[in-house]
Amino acid sequence: MRLALEEARLAAQAGEVPIGAVVVHQPRDRATGKPTAEAQVIARGHNQCEALKDASAHAEFSAMREAEQALDNWRLSDCTIYVTLEPCVMCAGLMQRSRVSRCVYGAADPKGGALGSLFAIHQDQRLNHRFQVTPGVLEEECQALLRRFFQTRR
Ligand SMILES: [Zn+2]
Repeated sequence: MRLALEEARLAAQAGEVPIGAVVVHQPRDRATGKPTAEAQVIARGHNQCEALKDASAHAEFSAMREAEQALDNWRLSDCTIYVTLEPCVMCAGLMQRSRVSRCVYGAADPKGGALGSLFAIHQDQRLNHRFQVTPGVLEEECQALLRRFFQTRR
């Protein structure tokens, strides 16, 4: 999450809403669930909606796409996504589609969060893949970064 916060700061410096993400890959043995290799950061990203004029340029969305290229596989089964703000419907949707194993996020997003706040995509029984979610990691810091950004813009 510290690395995701670094990414969020990069976004802020570029005048973007400060949200950052990293993807950590740790292969596991299918039968035992035990790790078979060291955990590794394989992708990182920060919000770039303004620069790219792209509403899909969210931190975790970009990081997941980069991770798919890094693994040469659209399945992110052994991946954990760390992101400073609770993912939106689109990003939670990609997590579901790409079969991530876990998402860890910092601040909750009561106005748009899809992993617990408005929706709970990760545990929807109607979908064919569900994943773990750990909310509230370094929540204060993630939130403070967003608050400061919006304060200076007003
Ligand atoms: Zn999103």
